[in-house]
Amino acid sequence: MNTDTINPSEPNDARTEAAAFVQHLTQAFEHSAIGVTLQDFDLNIIEANPAFCDLLGYSRPELIEQNTIQLTLEADQERSRQQLKRLKRGDIHGFQIDKRYVHAEDHVIWARVSVSVIENPYGEPNLVLTQVQNITAQRQIKQDLADNEAQLEAIIRSMGEGVMVFDPDGQLIVSNDRITEMFGFEPGTMDEASQLFGGKWKAFREDGTMLPLDEYPAAITLQTGEPQREFICFMQKPNGNRVWLEVNTEPVHLGAHGDMVAVVLSMTDITEKRRTQQALEDREEQLSMALDGAQLGTWDWHLGRRELVLNETSSDILGYCATNGRYLLDDVRSHFHPEDVEHIEASMNKHLHGQQSHFNVDARLRNMQNDYVWLNLRGRITERDKQDKPVRVSGMLVDISERKKLEGKLVDLATKDSLTNIYNRGYGSTTLEREMAQARRQEQPLSLMLIDIDHFKRINDDFGHDHGDKVLIEIAEILTDNVRESDLAARWGGEEFAVILPNTPLDAAQAKAEQLLEEVRKQQLPDGRNLTMSVGVTQYRDEESGTEFLKRADLLMYEAKNAGRDRVRAGE
Ligand code: GH3
Ligand code: MG
Ligand code: MG
Repeated sequence: MNTDTINPSEPNDARTEAAAFVQHLTQAFEHSAIGVTLQDFDLNIIEANPAFCDLLGYSRPELIEQNTIQLTLEADQERSRQQLKRLKRGDIHGFQIDKRYVHAEDHVIWARVSVSVIENPYGEPNLVLTQVQNITAQRQIKQDLADNEAQLEAIIRSMGEGVMVFDPDGQLIVSNDRITEMFGFEPGTMDEASQLFGGKWKAFREDGTMLPLDEYPAAITLQTGEPQREFICFMQKPNGNRVWLEVNTEPVHLGAHGDMVAVVLSMTDITEKRRTQQALEDREEQLSMALDGAQLGTWDWHLGRRELVLNETSSDILGYCATNGRYLLDDVRSHFHPEDVEHIEASMNKHLHGQQSHFNVDARLRNMQNDYVWLNLRGRITERDKQDKPVRVSGMLVDISERKKLEGKLVDLATKDSLTNIYNRGYGSTTLEREMAQARRQEQPLSLMLIDIDHFKRINDDFGHDHGDKVLIEIAEILTDNVRESDLAARWGGEEFAVILPNTPLDAAQAKAEQLLEEVRKQQLPDGRNLTMSVGVTQYRDEESGTEFLKRADLLMYEAKNAGRDRVRAGE
C-alpha cells in the first residue's frame, strides 16, 4: 500500500489523526503474522503483505498483478469462483473458505481464507480484502486422525474391557460392544450408551450414596485433565440390578503439550469379583464367630512385623486387650515360661525351614493374674512371597490347663506312691536302669541304698496301722528332703525304700546313708523309743544287671539287720 496517496494535502487535527491511524494500519499490515492481500474484483492481487509472500514462497513483485485463482490448487478453484460470483452479485459481503494454494516450490498449502469487501466512499464495492491463515499443520493432524480412526475404532471395539471415548464437550464419540453387553443394550445402540451418563442409569459410590454427574470419572478428567484410576462405583439398572464397575480414564492430547482432544474411559465389570469377595468376607466373619464361640484363640503373625494379631479369645487368655488386637511380639514372648521360650522358637524355626509341616507346641503362658496357663499353640505358614519365602504364619491357641492337670495326675498315678507321694518301685526301677546306662556311658560312679524299717510290725501292732502309715510318710519326707535334686528316693515295698545316687561313689553314699539314719533316729515313737532302720549301700559294677545290683544291696541290708539293726552296711 502506498501511504503517500492517502497523505493529507492540508494539515489539520483530523487529518493528522487519520494519518497516524493509516500509519498503524500499514504497520499492522506489514508485520501481521497472517497473510493479508488487497485484490480487485477479479481477484488480481493489488497488494500483499510479507506474511502472504512467505506463505506462498513468492516475492512481492512476483505476486502483484497475479490472479489468486491461478495460485489456488486446481481442485479448489471452482469453489473459490462460486463464492466470488455470490460476492459480486452482492448476495454476500464476505465468506470464509478452507482451500489449498500451490507454493512456489510446488507443494500444497492448506489455508483458511477470510474474504471481505471494501467499499469506496460512494458505498460501491471496489476492493477485496483477504486474510490468509496457514492451517496445513492442523489439516495434517486431522488427516492422520482420520486415517487412524478406523484402526483405532477396530481396536476399541475388540477390547475385553468396556471402552467409551468422549470428545472435549463430553459427547460420546464411540463405545464398544462390551459396554453394550455390560449394560444389556441392543447391539449398536449408541444412543443408549450415551444415556449412561446422566440418563436413566444412575451411578452410586461404594457407600451407596448417589454419585453426582460432575464427579463421574470422565467428567473429572474433562474438567481437570487428570486421569482417574481404579474408581469403584456401581450403576443401578432400570430393573434394580447393580453392575459394579472399576473405572479408569485417560485424557488424550494432540502432541506432547497439545490440547485435550478426547477422554478414553475403560470400565471392568467387577460384580462377580465383588460377590466372591463379599462371600469370602462373610465366611471369615462366620468362622471368627464360630472360633470365638468355641473358645478357640487365633493368632496371626506377619514375619516382617514385630507384632501379633490376636482374636478376642486369645486376648481373654492373655488377660489384657491391645488396640485392634495387635500385640507386640516381644511383649507376648515375655509372658511365656522362660523354660518354654526356646522350645517354641525351635519348633517355629523347624516349620519355617520346612522340616515340620506344622507348628505345634504346648507351652506355659503367664497371664495378667500372674498364673501360668498351659496353651497348645498350633499354626502354619499361610502366605509366601514371590520367592516362596514365608511371610505370614497363622494359627490357633487353646487353653489346655485342664488337660495338663489331668495328664499330670495320670503321670503321678503311674509313677508315684499314693500314700507317701514319692516315686513308686516301677518308676524307681526304670530310673535305675537309665542311670546304670548313663554311668556306663560316662564312666561315672552310681550308688544305691536299700532301706528297711526296723520292727515295723511292732509299730503297727502297738500304735495302730494308721500310725504305721504316718511313719511311712515321715520317712519318705526325710529321704526326699535330704538327698540331692539328682538323686531319687522311691518306696520299694511295704516299709522298704530305695535311694538311687547318680555320680556318687560308695563312700559318699555310705556317708549319706549314715546321715539319713541319723535323721530317722530323731523321730520318736509314742512310747518314747526312736525310729530306726537298716540300710544296705553299694556301688554299681560295670556289666552288672539291675537285678544283680539290687540283689547285692538287699544282701547288705540283711547283713545290717542281722548285725543288730539300726545301722548301715556298705560293700563294693
Ligand atoms: P524287721 O526289723 O525284721 O524288718 O521287722 P519288721 O517288723 O519290719 O518286719 P517286716 O519288714 O517283715 O515287716 C513289714 C511289715 O510292714 C509288714 C506289714 O504289716 C507292714 N506294712 C507293709 N506295708 C504297710 C503299709 O503300707 N502300712 C502299714 N501301716 N504297714 C505296712
Ligand atoms: Mg520289710
Ligand atoms: Mg522291717
